Amino acid sequence: MPTTATIIDGKAVAAQIREEIAQRVTALKRERSVPPGLAVILVGEDPASQVYVRSKERQAQEAGFKSLAYRRPDDISEEQLITLIEGLNEDPTIDGILVQLPLPAHIDEGVVINAISPEKDVDGFHPINVGRMITGAPSLLPCTPFGCIQLLKRTLGDLSGLDAVVVGRSNIVGKPMAALLLRENCTVTMAHSRTRNLADVCRRADILVAAVGKPGFVQGDWIKPGATVIDVGINRVATADGGSRLVGDVDFEAAKAVAGAITPVPGGVGPMTIAMLLRNTLESYCRRNRLECELG
Ligand code: NDP
Repeated sequence: MPTTATIIDGKAVAAQIREEIAQRVTALKRERSVPPGLAVILVGEDPASQVYVRSKERQAQEAGFKSLAYRRPDDISEEQLITLIEGLNEDPTIDGILVQLPLPAHIDEGVVINAISPEKDVDGFHPINVGRMITGAPSLLPCTPFGCIQLLKRTLGDLSGLDAVVVGRSNIVGKPMAALLLRENCTVTMAHSRTRNLADVCRRADILVAAVGKPGFVQGDWIKPGATVIDVGINRVATADGGSRLVGDVDFEAAKAVAGAITPVPGGVGPMTIAMLLRNTLESYCRRNRLECELG
């Protein structure tokens, strides 16, 4: 008997989180003159990066933050970029610094991420924050995996003991996703391009996270009936009318007939990433100002 999965509405959850953050910021502004500050740095003209940065800038403003975007040409030197970051590290009105990736080839991303003060590293990519995350110490968590965990907990409640498979092992999605699932007491398998019998590995998953970067890669018959599927992929594909649309890394129509719950693309994980960025910035602000700030 075919079933249809519950669609996990990341757009609605993200809107609710942003609203809670905006209310918190309004209350904080009654007592403090300086709101949380987020600085986003964009190097070059990459169209997708420009869209992401505009969204981050706008949503930070809507939450009541001080929101600054620094747009720099793609021939900026690594040294100039680091000087900009060092200035923001010292700026007491800035709580979060984000460098939009990817950077041009002549700039070493690792060097740039290392230059961000760990306490302002709202992307959660600094090795100090990565180390804290792995050891379970308090830290700023990478936004996309953190958003996925929020969606999973709101869908499933306690994740303890569930079998989780993460397909993809990038530093920004796959690896931190696996670490956070482990922290939630899942039994975690990380799959990648060298994994053997990937379909069988995926079929074990109560929670299947796809972060591969290939449109429709995960097939419907790779999914255990009733599993929860989190599709991190954002791929632009051509349509018959000459336009284009966004699709995920999962064959959504086939997966929907098998899974218990699934995130759509767009409208699933994507909006959660920016909501978690705002949350991290507020958390950084609270820590830096020694304020109680219980965030759900
Ligand atoms: P990367 O390209 O850095 O990593 C892709 C991963 O997929 C690699 O670990 C790779 O394995 C693995 N992979 C590639 N081919 C296969 C295969 N045939 N079988 C199994 N594994 C495979 O991508 P990202 O992690 O940066 O991004 C993944 C997707 O998520 C992209 O679509 C990206 O646009 C999207 N994304 C979405 C975000 C959001 O906010 N929703 C944020 C960030 C990314 P190996 O390591 O062996 O090469």
